[in-house]
Amino acid sequence: MKIAFYPGSFDPITNGHLDIIRRSLVIFDKVVVGVMTNPNKHYLFCAEQRKNMIEQSVTDEKIEVKIFTDMLSVKAARQVKACAIIRGLRQGDDYLFERNLAIVNYEQANIDTLFFQAQLPYEVTSSSMVKEIASFDGDITRYVPVIVAQSLKNRLKERRES
Ligand code: ADP
Repeated sequence: MKIAFYPGSFDPITNGHLDIIRRSLVIFDKVVVGVMTNPNKHYLFCAEQRKNMIEQSVTDEKIEVKIFTDMLSVKAARQVKACAIIRGLRQGDDYLFERNLAIVNYEQANIDTLFFQAQLPYEVTSSSMVKEIASFDGDITRYVPVIVAQSLKNRLKERRES
């Protein structure tokens, strides 16, 4: 069984991420989505919320969602017995960042990274853009599943009131 590991922040998951997961399943038998938590990053949603939003956005039983805290992606990939790491590429900036990561990951654990080129409708979609639009009460329904749009609305309201 060929397992792929797709690590990321998913803060929150977008339609761009979902497209990568869907396309990975054409090549792999199973995709484990790794909700990563890096102590140097600030997240709007906690890992449990990020995981729940992914689980509510996918239906395929070949997708598993797992939380990894303070762990290198390569270690998590090995733990879930993945034969490759999946990442997505949007525009030029992504490539420079992702290429360095892919080289280091191979050096660390002999595991290859497979890149999926973002399709045009998702090329400019990012979690940060979605959060920014939502924070100004803009319409994000074209970028994220309904459940994510609702969770974002609730979370931002909660944050404003705290
Ligand atoms: P990270 O903090 O690890 O970059 P993200 O959740 O931002 O986590 O992204 C996870 C992966 O998904 C990265 O490889 C990123 O380039 C890719 N990605 C993010 N948004 C999209 C998109 N709209 N289309 C394709 N790939 C994407």
